[in-house]
Amino acid sequence: MSALYFSPMLLGLCLLLAVAIAATALWLVSRPYAGPGFWMAGIWTLIAGILLFIGFMITGSPTLNVLGNAGQLGGEAIFLLGIFRFMGRPLPWWIIPLSVSIMVLFNVHYWVFDGNSDFLMGVYSTIAGLLPLQAIWLLLRAKDDAVTRPARLLVAVSLLIYSLVTLVRGALGYLDWWQQQPYEMPYDSFSYLLPYNFAIPALVMGFVGVTLMTMQRILARSEYHAQAAQRSAQRFERLLSATSSGVAIIRQGLIHDANLRLEQLTGRPRVELIGQAVSLLFAENSQAKLHNSLQLGATRQLELQALHQQHGGFTAEISLEPLEQQGDHILELRDISHHKALEARLHSLATRDPLTGILNRRAFDDAIQPELARCERQGHALSLALLDIDHFKQFNDRHGHAVGDLVLQAFTHCCQTHLRASDRLARFGGEEFIIMLVDTDSHSAMQLMQRLRQSVHQLQPGSVSNQLMVRFSAGITQWQPGDTLDSLVRRADRGLYQAKNAGRDQIHCWPPATETFNHADS
Ligand code: GH3
Ligand code: MG
Ligand code: MG
Repeated sequence: MSALYFSPMLLGLCLLLAVAIAATALWLVSRPYAGPGFWMAGIWTLIAGILLFIGFMITGSPTLNVLGNAGQLGGEAIFLLGIFRFMGRPLPWWIIPLSVSIMVLFNVHYWVFDGNSDFLMGVYSTIAGLLPLQAIWLLLRAKDDAVTRPARLLVAVSLLIYSLVTLVRGALGYLDWWQQQPYEMPYDSFSYLLPYNFAIPALVMGFVGVTLMTMQRILARSEYHAQAAQRSAQRFERLLSATSSGVAIIRQGLIHDANLRLEQLTGRPRVELIGQAVSLLFAENSQAKLHNSLQLGATRQLELQALHQQHGGFTAEISLEPLEQQGDHILELRDISHHKALEARLHSLATRDPLTGILNRRAFDDAIQPELARCERQGHALSLALLDIDHFKQFNDRHGHAVGDLVLQAFTHCCQTHLRASDRLARFGGEEFIIMLVDTDSHSAMQLMQRLRQSVHQLQPGSVSNQLMVRFSAGITQWQPGDTLDSLVRRADRGLYQAKNAGRDQIHCWPPATETFNHADS
C-alpha cells in the first residue's frame, strides 16, 4: 500500500518540478509579458509547500504541517493571480492572505486542541477547490481577447477539473470525520490519493494552457507590430514620394536609400545612387561645407552647389538630420535655383537702373557709405563727380524718346570704360549721373573727366549718329574730413552749375581753386 501511495506522489512531484522548470523558461522567454512570472512563482511555492508537507509526514512536525499547507495554498493562489495579471484585470491579492490564514488558523487549532485530521483535510480541500473559481469565471467571460480564446478554454477546463477533484477530496474528508471513521495516515486513505492522480495532472494541463495563451499573445502582438511597422514603412515611403524635396538616407557617408525626387534632381537613377558617396551629389566647391555638416550632425538650410548628371550645377538647399544610428543621417535636398534667380532679379530691380544697368541712386548711397567711413579712418582721397548731358531734351524732341534712351545707354557705356572696378557709377536721375572715384584726388579726377569728355565727343549712338553730338557738363569735388554724401553732392552740384553757366561741355571743380577744363583745353 505504501508503495502504491508513494509512486503517484513521487510522480506528481516530478510532474510539478517539470512544470516549474518549464514555467521558469516561459517567464524568461516571454518577458516583459505579464503573467508567466506569477505562474513560475506559484508553482515553485506549491512545490515548496508539498516538500514541507512530506517533511511533516516523515517527522510528524506540526510546524511543517502548517507551513506545508500554507505553502501549497499560497502557491495555488499566486498561480491564479497570474491569470488575472495576464488578462489585465486588477489582482485580487486578498485571496493569498485569506486562504492561507484560514488554513493556518484551522491547522493551529488542530495542533493545539488535537483536532480531527480528516476535518482539517476537508477544510484544506474546500479552500483549494474554491480558489480557482474566480479565475475560471474570468477566463470564460473575457470577450475582448479573441486570439487566446482556445487556450483560455483549455485553462478554464483544467482548473475546473482541478477544482472538482479537490472539492470531492474535501467532501470525502468531511464524510470520514462525520462518520467518525478512525484516523488513517495519508497513505492509508483513498482521498489523499485523489490529488496526485487527478488534480496534479489537471494542473499540468492548465499550465500547458497558460503557455499556449502566452504564445498566442506573443504571436498576435508580434504580428500586430510587424503590420504596424509595414504600415509605418508604407507611410514613410508615401511621404518621401509626396515631398518636393529629394530625400536620401545617408549611412557612413554613403547613400543608403533615396526617393524618386532625388533621382529627378540629380539625373541619376536610384539604383545608381544607392551605395554611392553622398559627396557625388555636390560640386567641388561645396565638398568642405558638406563634410563639416556631416560631422556636425543637424544642419538646416545650408546652401550648396548640387550637381545634375546632365545639366550640371544648380543651387540647392540641404538639411541634414542625424538618425539614431551613429553616423546615419537623413538628407533633404531642394532645388532653389529658381528662388536664387528671382532673388537676384529682385536685387537687381532694387539696386539697378533698368535702362542703363548701372546702380540707382539708393544703391549708390549704400556703396559710398563704407568708402566715406574708410576715408574718415584712413584719410584716403576720394572724389565725386556729377555729370549732366547737355541739351539732352533736344535728342528726345528731335529724334524721339527711343533715341534719347540710346544716348543714355551709349553715354553710360562710355563712362564705364573709363572707370576702375573700385569706382562706382550711378544714374542720379533723368540724364544726370554720379561717379565715385576712390583713391583719387580732384586733380586726377579732373584728368579722368577730361579723358571721358573727349571720348564722349566721339560718341555716335544709334543709326542717327551723324546728327548727334553728345556733350556733358560736370562738377567735381574732393572729399574733406566730415563730408557726407549730401555735402559732397552739394559741392559737386555747385561745380556743375558753374560748368553749365559757363557755356556747357565743361568740367568745373568746387571749391574752384583747382583746375577747370573747357572747350579751350580740349
Ligand atoms: P541742360 O543742358 O540744361 O541740362 O538741358 P537738358 O535738356 O539736358 O535738361 P532738362 O532737364 O531740360 O531735360 C532733361 C530731359 O531728359 C527731360 C526728360 O524728358 C529727359 N529724360 C529723363 N529721363 C529720360 C529717359 O530715361 N529717357 C529719355 N529718352 N529721356 C529722359
Ligand atoms: Mg539735367
Ligand atoms: Mg541736361
